[in-house]
Amino acid sequence: QQSQQQQSITLLGATGSIGQSTLDVLARHPERYRVYALTAHRQIDALAALCERWQPMVAVVGSEADTQRLRDMLKGSAPSTEVRFGADALAEVAQTEEVDTVMAAIVGAAGLLPTLAAVRAGKRVLLANKEALVMSGAIFMEAVTEHGATLLPIDSEHNAIFQCLPNGTPVSLAESGIESLILTASGGPFLNASAEQLAQVTPAQAVKHPNWAMGQKISVDSATLMNKGLELIEACWLFSAKPEQVEVVVHPQSVIHSMVRYADGSVLAQMGQPDMRTPIAHALAWPERMHSGVAPLDFTRLGDLSFMAPDTERFPCLRLAREAIAAGGTWPCVLNAANEVAVAAFLAGELVFQDIAVVIESVMQQMPVRPASELATILSADQEARARATKYIASLPDHPRD
Ligand code: NAD
Ligand code: MG
Repeated sequence: QQSQQQQSITLLGATGSIGQSTLDVLARHPERYRVYALTAHRQIDALAALCERWQPMVAVVGSEADTQRLRDMLKGSAPSTEVRFGADALAEVAQTEEVDTVMAAIVGAAGLLPTLAAVRAGKRVLLANKEALVMSGAIFMEAVTEHGATLLPIDSEHNAIFQCLPNGTPVSLAESGIESLILTASGGPFLNASAEQLAQVTPAQAVKHPNWAMGQKISVDSATLMNKGLELIEACWLFSAKPEQVEVVVHPQSVIHSMVRYADGSVLAQMGQPDMRTPIAHALAWPERMHSGVAPLDFTRLGDLSFMAPDTERFPCLRLAREAIAAGGTWPCVLNAANEVAVAAFLAGELVFQDIAVVIESVMQQMPVRPASELATILSADQEARARATKYIASLPDHPRD
């Protein structure tokens, strides 16, 4: 007999793409879950609508000005929702005793501190915010062990690998007879674009992913293959894998979400629709299973599944990520920070697509690899890399929209 005690959930990044998919799954299982806190950065109208629907105990926004705005909006519709703002409030709703499970779905480095707060409070942490782990891998994973947190991957590839591991639990790869992990990559919208075509790519084209509907930043990361690079680093930390034990294969149909290769020649794959509600429902219910709202995979209509090696000439970000995790220390954090700045500049029309990788490589080369055993070192490497990336972008001769 399974326990049906309600789980109380904080959803960090409730207004985003993952936030929306999470609430869609939660709405299907009101008996199992209740929402304690919802957070958003600037999308106050969207957050107000969610508060009206979910009546959370707490809502967290980015600024003091928005706090008052949201309070006014919720007076009639969610009078018992307390509105707070800022980093301390994010950490508080992630670590409070009132909460069992935290969905970490803020995008980028902004998610690091609240996600770590959840880990240090020993929560069940559903990790979508891969940048947090990329930045602080060693500290993050040590905190998981030290504080007895349960870390469940939401990234579809890592969730797939998790499902293909023996007993579903990350263990020593060698002891489990595992040779390698195989991350599948869709290849993004420019898989077959020539170098000349890549130079002309616009932000609107880059955020239009062929298979997945996602936030802007991760969509650009998918187009540069940096998303796969970040996922390579994420896989090393989540599953105690060496970088050379993580293969990347392009699989444009996104039906196989990733695979595990065993010593006896077996390869286990997890398949499904390209819909994040599957990994979200998996992690919410684990070790049980529950409905996610995702349509069953119809094999008679799938057509061909194809596979090819990634091209790191046209997509150097994947190579840079391999270099970053091989060097270790602060370099993955530097890679991530420079990428965040470069992607924001690209989206703002201030950088051509292929210069995203050029900016990252330059910043990595400017910054020595330092040991990353202290959070302070990581946060200062993050800040320094952002400053250097900003400066480098400003020094580039002509911006594309000038
Ligand atoms: P999104 O841009 O749609 O949503 C981001 C959320 O974070 C929003 O709620 C926003 O208000 C909040 N936010 C943004 N900046 C913030 C800040 N400075 N402080 C506090 N909150 C802030 O992004 P998304 O696509 O939902 O992705 C979220 C995370 O999940 C990313 O790390 C992404 O890599 C990861 N992820 C997403 C998908 C996907 O399908 N969307 C798949 C795998 C992993
Ligand atoms: Mg992914």
